Amino acid sequence: MELWFSEKHTDNVELKIKVKQQLYSKKSYYQQIDILDTYEFGRILVLDGYIMLTEKDEYVYHEMVTHVPMAVNPDVKNVLVIGAGDGGTLRELCRYDTIEHIDMVEIDELVVEVCKRYLPQTACCFNDERLDLHIGDGLKYVRYKENEYDLIIVDSTDPFGPGEGLFTKEFYGRCFTALTDKGILINQHESTYYDSYVDMVQRTHKRISANFPVSMVYQTHIPTYPSGQWLFGFASKNLHPVYDIQEDRWNALGLKTKYYNTELHKGCFALPNDVKEVLENT
Ligand code: SAM
Repeated sequence: MELWFSEKHTDNVELKIKVKQQLYSKKSYYQQIDILDTYEFGRILVLDGYIMLTEKDEYVYHEMVTHVPMAVNPDVKNVLVIGAGDGGTLRELCRYDTIEHIDMVEIDELVVEVCKRYLPQTACCFNDERLDLHIGDGLKYVRYKENEYDLIIVDSTDPFGPGEGLFTKEFYGRCFTALTDKGILINQHESTYYDSYVDMVQRTHKRISANFPVSMVYQTHIPTYPSGQWLFGFASKNLHPVYDIQEDRWNALGLKTKYYNTELHKGCFALPNDVKEVLENT
């Protein structure tokens, strides 16, 4: 008997992936957590029926949320990561010896526990001595922070369920206050490909732009996300993601990456007209 996992991308589009074996399935206080072993994508983490990551393509997401800001401000020392329970973003951050401290705020402890057990490829750095792991809500946590972080990465689920508060104007305002003068905010910014996502992308971009002088969007390709075209937000008080890239300094680090490079960094902020039109009509 064949086993398939399917995720609804719209009412009329589904992604189907053939499954070897279901490795884990449990409902936490916050969400349904599943780990599936698949033929094409290796192991995949699914939360409330939505693919969060796959072993095959997770590097794209985790490299792009980490190395883009780190190449603009290589002097980042204090980092706040919100969500990111699978550990992939943490893994990429821990490659920088210059980073001194990482606060990670993940609302669901079971996600961390399950990823440590089934996804060692991403959950490999939770023992790094620079990490303080806080189990809690990222919005509540950031309310009490001021001028503390050089980088905030919001690696959350989608803007509903536990992640909803991480897409609000209040949250972005709190992030602005929590960041230092050269601070950068990176957020998972969904996609404009399907009409049903456009409103959320526009609302998110408008809320970030209302709080940050620099608010830009960059794109990448993640095959297992709806349409494959995926966006991230880059916001700062005074750093431009392309004009201020410290290309030589970043390349001199000699970090081996599978996806990110500084040429791609400069290119990924050049958006297609249909995406620009959505962002301009906020
Ligand atoms: N890094 C993966 C990727 O490639 O997209 C997925 C992101 S990670 C699994 C998303 C995490 O955000 C989940 O573990 C979820 O529990 C967490 N999360 C959702 N809402 C949150 C909140 N309000 N505060 C902190 N963490 C939250």
